[in-house]
Amino acid sequence: LTGPFKDALHIIRTIERAGYQAYFVGGCVRDLILNRTIGDIDITTSATPDVIQGLFANVIPVGIEHGTVIVRYNKTSYEVTTFRVEGEYSDGRHPDSVSFIDQLDKDLERRDFTMNALAMDKSGDIVDLFGGKADLKKRVIRTVGDGKKRFKEDPLRILRALRFSSQLGFDLSIETIQAIVSVKAEIEGLAVERITKELEKLFAGDHVKMGLQYVSELQLEEHLPVFQTYSPVEKFLHHIKPLHSLAEVICLLHQMNPDIDIRYIVKAWKCSNHTWKTAERLNEALEYGKIHGIDRWLAYLLLPDLHEAYCRLMDIINPNTIDCTLLHKLKAELPISSRQEMLINGNDIIEMFPTRNRGPWIQKKLNELEKQIVLGSINNEKSTLKDWVKWNPPEVN
Ligand code: ATP
Ligand code: MG
Repeated sequence: LTGPFKDALHIIRTIERAGYQAYFVGGCVRDLILNRTIGDIDITTSATPDVIQGLFANVIPVGIEHGTVIVRYNKTSYEVTTFRVEGEYSDGRHPDSVSFIDQLDKDLERRDFTMNALAMDKSGDIVDLFGGKADLKKRVIRTVGDGKKRFKEDPLRILRALRFSSQLGFDLSIETIQAIVSVKAEIEGLAVERITKELEKLFAGDHVKMGLQYVSELQLEEHLPVFQTYSPVEKFLHHIKPLHSLAEVICLLHQMNPDIDIRYIVKAWKCSNHTWKTAERLNEALEYGKIHGIDRWLAYLLLPDLHEAYCRLMDIINPNTIDCTLLHKLKAELPISSRQEMLINGNDIIEMFPTRNRGPWIQKKLNELEKQIVLGSINNEKSTLKDWVKWNPPEVN
């Protein structure tokens, strides 16, 4: 074992030395076999959370009641979960009950897909009870056990299936598709935050077109927030490419149909304020770009780091119409990177017009100055800026 697995061996060994079983499990084993970058390392064990807490110095009890703790070791976090079986997810969020068990097989059986139900021991031997390796080879997503039953237990698995398809470029097995079609309405009972997280991952997948094709073919839109009132999936399916954040997704939906406003999507998906603000800023830049094309002001509006996002969106909305290299060049040449860097402020302007009352005109002048500096029409020097204001005095109102 190499890389991240090697570092995690200490945890497996420590648990085994105390007389319990421990395995790598889930996504990390799947990604190892697929030769993909390993994300988090998850460990499944017969030891209960209190035993784990006794074995390691640095344990964070993130979900003790569900059997999960985080073990911090060598500056890395490992999710360590006790073998368990689950009850129903009647609140659409958590299983109603979990029971700890001491057998690996039952723990693997509760997992969603065969490719996610693989475990690996400390020597790298794989435990594969449901044909997960064969499905990885065939590039197929298949539920562990009866799909209908498994999707009913936790309908989030439906969305997980689609986002894995989008991330991995895998097909869904026929039985899995049939099961989805028969229980898909139950998505509506899920906690919105869970849905949103999966949608974000789906839109970011390398094979997003494939994931969205399933959304469209299996007619899942009618059960998804936002998409159920208006689904532009058909419209952009052809040009879709991976989007790196929810803000980009929201902006795309709004651009495809200006009737759905950004605020509405943010609320329906329960997004953070940060996502909301980013979506608004991106949208403002897109609107500006439609009129003015790529210029320094556009590069400035996108500061500090929305330039790539802008290019990704344009590539979908209006393919091959913008020169992203130019945008990055203009970004690198900007004379200032924020209003705070202007060498004139409100007080300087007030002093220049001692007889005028304060009012919105001051802000207006600063806005004009900011634009002139960014566009390169005037230099950011106090005397030059003051001269400019002298020659362009505020209007008398
Ligand atoms: P990622 O690369 O996105 O982290 P992952 O497969 O590790 O993918 P996680 O959400 O981190 O996915 O879950 C870890 C493991 O827990 C999964 O591989 C799967 O075995 C199991 N799992 C997670 N969510 C569910 C669920 N809703 N139902 C059944 N099993 C699940
Ligand atoms: Mg994971």
